[in-house]
Amino acid sequence: MKKIELFLALVMGVSFVFPVLVLSVEGGRTPQELNKEAYFLVRQARKALYQKEERAAYDDFIKAGEVYAEIVRQYPDWQADSINAKIEQCRKEADEIGRRIFKLPDGYIEIKRDMTREGNRYDKGRIDEDKVKKIAENQYEVGGNTVTLVEEGPLQGASCSCPDYTYRGRKFGFACRHIWAIVLKEKLLKQ
Ligand SMILES: [Zn+2]
Repeated sequence: MKKIELFLALVMGVSFVFPVLVLSVEGGRTPQELNKEAYFLVRQARKALYQKEERAAYDDFIKAGEVYAEIVRQYPDWQADSINAKIEQCRKEADEIGRRIFKLPDGYIEIKRDMTREGNRYDKGRIDEDKVKKIAENQYEVGGNTVTLVEEGPLQGASCSCPDYTYRGRKFGFACRHIWAIVLKEKLLKQ
């Protein structure tokens, strides 16, 4: 009897302890483990790129960047310079591939970091910034006009219902005052 009791106690003990162990391993991986995972993702991405599988390469670079970012979040002091350089590298590579494989839908202009921040439309956009109302996920209202944002991979695009954009901006590829208002309000150039 005593042996059976001991056995039962052991089984119950293990089944209580074991899930906790599994959880703690999953929830708190060491920086070395995360670093290794990211390293393999980068290797996989380069292999995919070599095999002209650009979409797979893009996804793997994005994932690798996220894993490196997880190291920074959980262990900010662990090889910080090197990890930050790796994050930057993953983003750069994903961005380059993404620009080749993704395309904005017709009628959208790209919101780019190097958009010229000057001119009449930019100045008016700064004034309109206070009038911006978010009406849906990715949709805004500014002075009676509707601005819609889209995201395709690394590309971010915007479109506006106003005549200035419909007849000029859209055609020649520049932002109207309303798009500028959203860009400034949502700090879209600072990502
Ligand atoms: Zn507009």
